[in-house]
Amino acid sequence: MSKLYIVGVGPGKLEYLTLRAYEVLRKVSIVVGYGRYIEQIAPIIRGKTIFTTGMRDEVKRCLIAIRYAAQGYDTALVCGGDPGVYGLAGLCLQICAELSIDIEVEIVPGITAALAGACLVGAPLMRDFVVLNLSDILIPWEEIEHKLRKALEGNFTIVIYNPCSKKKYNIEKVFNIVRQYYHNTYVAIVKNALREGQEIYISKIENVDISKIDMNTIVIICSPHVYFRKGWLIAERGYEPKLRKLLNDRETLEKFINVSPAPRRHSSAY
Ligand code: SAH
Repeated sequence: MSKLYIVGVGPGKLEYLTLRAYEVLRKVSIVVGYGRYIEQIAPIIRGKTIFTTGMRDEVKRCLIAIRYAAQGYDTALVCGGDPGVYGLAGLCLQICAELSIDIEVEIVPGITAALAGACLVGAPLMRDFVVLNLSDILIPWEEIEHKLRKALEGNFTIVIYNPCSKKKYNIEKVFNIVRQYYHNTYVAIVKNALREGQEIYISKIENVDISKIDMNTIVIICSPHVYFRKGWLIAERGYEPKLRKLLNDRETLEKFINVSPAPRRHSSAY
């Protein structure tokens, strides 16, 4: 039986594709996706039948993929990042369910933008985080603002996807709201994380430069638990008493940190 694969292709660079995604893309005969993601995986899918559609053609993309899978072709519907994080997994499953189309589906996860961006600036997500999509094309702004306020009340670090959608300046409104809850907090702007054109900016919220933000960007609004040290954003998550104790314990520290060359690995040790 043929199968429909909904495949996350990660943030961009090929080395961030999972092995499973690679395997699936090699074996399917048909690949459907938005032009940018198809380009991203071009070296892997040479010679296959490829369908690309425009940015807003999500429904069309799903229908094409479902049709070919139902006709007996192994088909991959590709999404940037992860297909279940503002990708096409939900819509595709909804269409299959509503139309009672009985095809086998496998969803292949990918590295989502929040994780791709966070690893470049340190470890800001260590102490619980929320992802919030600012696009008010599908979801009303009132709902987005309500969720933002709840996340701020909860002291979460907030990763903003789609910071510049229809109303370009929603992000400005977001910063004005954030300032009512978090004072002196850090903001990271990561453009094109782990792909061509990568740019990273870290600043205090007071000095954030909105002109650096576009639709290829995620914005990480750090919770008050995040501090900045030696170029990294670090979320405290309860290790601090242990760490302080260790720093005062010279003997243990020296044992671990001042080690001479690592012991040779003997196979018998494993
Ligand atoms: N399914 C995707 C998200 C799609 S929504 C995922 O899991 O990553 C599209 C938004 O994701 C963009 O507007 C941008 O905010 C963010 N995004 C996707 N890839 C990105 C990347 N490599 N770097 C920065 N932001 C990215």
